[in-house]
Amino acid sequence: MQQKLAINDGTPVRTAPWPLWPQPAAGTSAALTEVLSSARWSLSGPYRGSESFERRFARDFAEYCGTAHCVPAASGTASLMLALEACGVGAGDEVIVPGLSWVASASTVIGVNAVPVLADIDPDTLCLDPAAVEAAITPRTRAIAVVHLYSAVADLTALRDIADRHGIALIEDCAQAHGAVYRGRKVGTFGAAGTFSMQHSKVLTSGEGGAVVTDDAGLARRVEHLRADGRCYPAAAPPVGSMELVETGELMGNNRCLSEFHAAVLVEQLKELDEQNARRARNAAVLDELLAELGCQPQRTSPGTDSRTYYVYAARLPEDALVGADIAKVNAALSAELGFSVVPTYRPLSLNKLYDPASRRRYAISDEHEKQLDPSRFPLPVCERVAQRSFTLHHAALLGDASDVEDIATAVRKVLDNSAELGS
Ligand SMILES: *Cc1c(COP(=O)(O)O)cnc(C)c1O
Repeated sequence: MQQKLAINDGTPVRTAPWPLWPQPAAGTSAALTEVLSSARWSLSGPYRGSESFERRFARDFAEYCGTAHCVPAASGTASLMLALEACGVGAGDEVIVPGLSWVASASTVIGVNAVPVLADIDPDTLCLDPAAVEAAITPRTRAIAVVHLYSAVADLTALRDIADRHGIALIEDCAQAHGAVYRGRKVGTFGAAGTFSMQHSKVLTSGEGGAVVTDDAGLARRVEHLRADGRCYPAAAPPVGSMELVETGELMGNNRCLSEFHAAVLVEQLKELDEQNARRARNAAVLDELLAELGCQPQRTSPGTDSRTYYVYAARLPEDALVGADIAKVNAALSAELGFSVVPTYRPLSLNKLYDPASRRRYAISDEHEKQLDPSRFPLPVCERVAQRSFTLHHAALLGDASDVEDIATAVRKVLDNSAELGS
């Protein structure tokens, strides 16, 4: 049907508001008030006779993930750097990361003086392609930092196998996948460590925040020290009024602690995560069908995924539609129809203006190191192809009911039917 597109001043498919994110959990105000009057706003404050919210969240989240240990941290970025260092990654080492991800996937690796090796992705899951990982391994490879991107779980069976065969660490960056289940277990439990972000946009959030989960007591203890200036919790609580953290000097660290306010928010938000994940998955299933009818290919998850979560909903345009069209313009047209931000995937890290190690003097360690960090040395044809053909929506779009996702499909149909207006 010919209809003028909203981006060209036509009538939009939808003007009704969308669900907002974040949404405070029921107990949040009470928990924050408790922290305010507790005289303890950080774990690096005196013990006041009750468990810190930070420890409470660590216990709750470890139980949720099914791991023995959880160490909260200030951000996902901090968590990933802590996990890398706790796995022994440092100067001169290489870490394999996906070529399509948030910039932190690579910037955290250079942050621990190692070299990110960008590997290509699987075109259907948008996660690391195990064959590309295998091909990227060198004698200097120390770890694989896999990302479960958008709403898919990476091929953990294959990646775990590669890591084991080469004797390198597998770190799962679960910043986009809190609660996803693969072969009967939560993500974050398949490698040496799993890391999480609780930044504003994520499905579990306190505005800023993060965590490392692991079954390895030694690794957890190293993470603890690394994130609290070389201090850790004692085996037994100290007298009220004295500092709880003990200065062991086992391992030098930096302050990457999560505040008590953030931890209190997370304790409450975690209680609502499963219900929200289920709601998003129900709506995504409806949207998958509607978009498949239009010839689009929704992002797939790896075989073996029992339950996926939706941080971002991603789909590829039909093969024969909008060929040659500017993908930014296609996404802008969808945004205009919906009154909701629809954006292309991340730019591949080899072409991403946010990933520019040469802009930071701290990484100019040697000419050779600088050459190693040059992202343009990694060819990423699948990342580039996918990035030119995809659209994505933040998970807030999935928090309403089925009529919301019907609007999304209607907008996609309208843009496909009127592609001539976009110059293709
Ligand atoms: C958000 C994100 C991070 C970084 O988390 P912050 O809390 O923003 O520092 C790292 N990796 C991925 C895949 C992310 O999506």
